[in-house]
Amino acid sequence: GPLRLPRDKHGIDRRNVSRHAIKVCEVLHQHGYAAYIVGGAVRDLIVGLQPKDFDVATNATPEQIRPLFRRARIIGRRFQLVHVVFGQEIIETSTFRAPSSAGQETDEYGRILRDNTFGTHEEDAVRRDFTVNALYYDPIKEEVIDFHNGVSDLRKRIVRMIGDPETRYREDPVRMLRAVRFAAKLNATIDPATKEPIRKLASLIENVPASRLFDEMLKLLTCGHAMDCLRMLRTAGLHQGLLPLIDLIFEESGGEQFVELALERTDARVRAAKTVSPSFLFAALLWKLVDKRWQQTMAAGEHSLQALTQAADSVMEEQTRKLAIQRRYQSDMREIWFMQPRFERASGKAVWRMLDQPRFRAAVDFLQLRAEAHEVDSVQAQWWMDLANADDGQRAEMIEAHM
Ligand code: ATP
Ligand code: MG
Repeated sequence: GPLRLPRDKHGIDRRNVSRHAIKVCEVLHQHGYAAYIVGGAVRDLIVGLQPKDFDVATNATPEQIRPLFRRARIIGRRFQLVHVVFGQEIIETSTFRAPSSAGQETDEYGRILRDNTFGTHEEDAVRRDFTVNALYYDPIKEEVIDFHNGVSDLRKRIVRMIGDPETRYREDPVRMLRAVRFAAKLNATIDPATKEPIRKLASLIENVPASRLFDEMLKLLTCGHAMDCLRMLRTAGLHQGLLPLIDLIFEESGGEQFVELALERTDARVRAAKTVSPSFLFAALLWKLVDKRWQQTMAAGEHSLQALTQAADSVMEEQTRKLAIQRRYQSDMREIWFMQPRFERASGKAVWRMLDQPRFRAAVDFLQLRAEAHEVDSVQAQWWMDLANADDGQRAEMIEAHM
């Protein structure tokens, strides 16, 4: 049977647990079901991090769960689960699922296409990715149920796959990215047997639907340890299918430093619980290559704006061949890039027009990043930052004095 760890063995302080997640477990218990807080929240609570969100796993089916709560809806087609809504917070409540063995549809590489049979508690633990992600917390008994020695791995800071790593990566290649992300986030090492197949299987990433890849990449870049993740991705050869241009960018003089500066800012924001804009992030990652091609095309005699358009188009096209950046983000990235040359010559009315651009803020942040990288004058960048922070009266004075 699994380990059942009491309070003093796992150390979770109930006061750090979402009261809504506790409520969901209590209600399910009252109706005779088993229910646990599961996954990332338990992992993060044990190591003293603030969980992003709380998930519950139960032996009740979606149809059994839904009527027990005032605001609950069943979502998902392939695998149904229930969103229990409490104001701003959603507790994702799912039924124990069986692992990916018998009767499952896979593609030619072993990737699971459908995964929708209910299972026992033990089976639910087996189908999770890493031992540290397969922990169940019972908030009533204040007990952690641990089928795979996850608490021990967590204390030793080891990311270890449940089951045969190669098989599990073939089932879902995204797990390779997740291994990297959790290692960076937990300041852990990837267990050798878990790490070993990644290099060989890296190209399987290319079979993952582009939108899922984008989501995972975004999680990786906003986990608070983005530069560590990026370095690990490159070491493992995983970046080829995601950010193929990163190699070129790192080769540029100042390319690596620019990315590092951008990701440090991102990490600082994440750790301060501030929002991170995906368009800003990708605009920064790709900038050095856009800049280089822009300068080259201008040197070849092209008009500045025309040259920038060509540079942006070519970089965007090469990037999105591997990883689909959503269209709305793509247009925001362009706005951020295209405002850069305007900062250097705008005056009077043109400044007011720039202030009206929806991405003005992000573009000014980007200008500051460039100033930090010594690409533009920091006094000028600060002037724009002050302008962004000023009210209309102050803005009028600043713009007047600037001309
Ligand atoms: P985060 O802090 O980023 O939310 P998390 O561990 O909660 O980390 P989620 O993507 O929210 O990650 O997934 C919740 C749980 O579902 C995981 O802890 C894991 O148990 C399981 N899980 C998620 N993705 C996979 C996967 N690709 N393969 C197996 N299990 C997975
Ligand atoms: Mg989660």
